[in-house]
Amino acid sequence: RAIVRDIDMLEEKNPSIKPKPTTEVDPTVFEKRFLKTIMELGKGHFGRVDLCRYDPRGDRTGELVAVKSLKPETCEEKSNNLSREIDILKALYHENIVKYKGICQEEGGQAIKLIMEFLPLGSLTEYLPKNKNKTSLSTLLSYSIQICEGMDYLGSRNYIHRDLAARNVLLENDHVVKIGDFGLTKSIKDNEGYYIVRDDDVSPVFWYAPECLTHCKFYLASDVWSFGVTMYEILTYCEKNPVSCFKEMIGKTQGQMVVLRLVQLLKDGKRLPRPEGCPEPVYELMRCCWEHAPERRITFKKLIKDLSAMQD
Ligand code: ADP
Ligand code: MG
Repeated sequence: RAIVRDIDMLEEKNPSIKPKPTTEVDPTVFEKRFLKTIMELGKGHFGRVDLCRYDPRGDRTGELVAVKSLKPETCEEKSNNLSREIDILKALYHENIVKYKGICQEEGGQAIKLIMEFLPLGSLTEYLPKNKNKTSLSTLLSYSIQICEGMDYLGSRNYIHRDLAARNVLLENDHVVKIGDFGLTKSIKDNEGYYIVRDDDVSPVFWYAPECLTHCKFYLASDVWSFGVTMYEILTYCEKNPVSCFKEMIGKTQGQMVVLRLVQLLKDGKRLPRPEGCPEPVYELMRCCWEHAPERRITFKKLIKDLSAMQD
């Protein structure tokens, strides 16, 4: 007790030694004034992703981050979408899912930005055509397995991604891929195992399963279909675009008719062709992703098992 009194007296005489209340610094809150844009990484339907340096010391030693923001004219609904994307990504921890780092709030408290880890190699669509020579079939299969691992985790958390495509898979390095872009991801928890789409303005139709196109219903199995299309992209080193491929199969037609024709074509059992150099058993797995009835489709777990067996 005497010691405590001594300390109190010392502090009174010399206020600078008094322990300050620790100011809680939230490492997930990024201050706008320290965020320096370096270049644009990509543009999407409602927003953009920039490479920035977060440099509180102002000496360019700060870390590089990827920053997703909405176009200025974006309406409230879309900005809610980004908030939802942030909330979802915040709660996901998996080696094959892009890491959430935090948020940056605009001065007025209006616009919000999503801060993620920066993956310097970009998406598979950019990387694969340029790196064909050093990318073996076994590596392509490994990428496919990693996507399945990430998707299986997402499904275990009761989320459907709804926008799985090579353009939304990013590379950490030559060997590791991560799923990015959770802008269309939905929770199916309170639903009946599927999600019903209301606004359909940017649906990536050529990656969509028949039930998504005809009934606007999304199941976990609908993501499996999209994975099949993604696998097709990967096996063609992203040199064949499913959009132009399907359009060729559909033939000349106008605007609104495209989806109707696509639905008919899929109903008739027509599918994307086997990519050049793709082994028959690998193509067979893609076809299992493209079973017309969602309940007959292969699962991500089984895909992991079968793809792994083909790798060695
Ligand atoms: P959108 O919702 O607009 O499609 P994405 O999240 O898919 O936005 O990002 C658009 C593009 O920006 C991607 O295709 C990729 O090239 C690039 N990008 C996105 N996130 C990152 C990241 N974390 N690191 C590096 N590049 C990224
Ligand atoms: Mg995207």
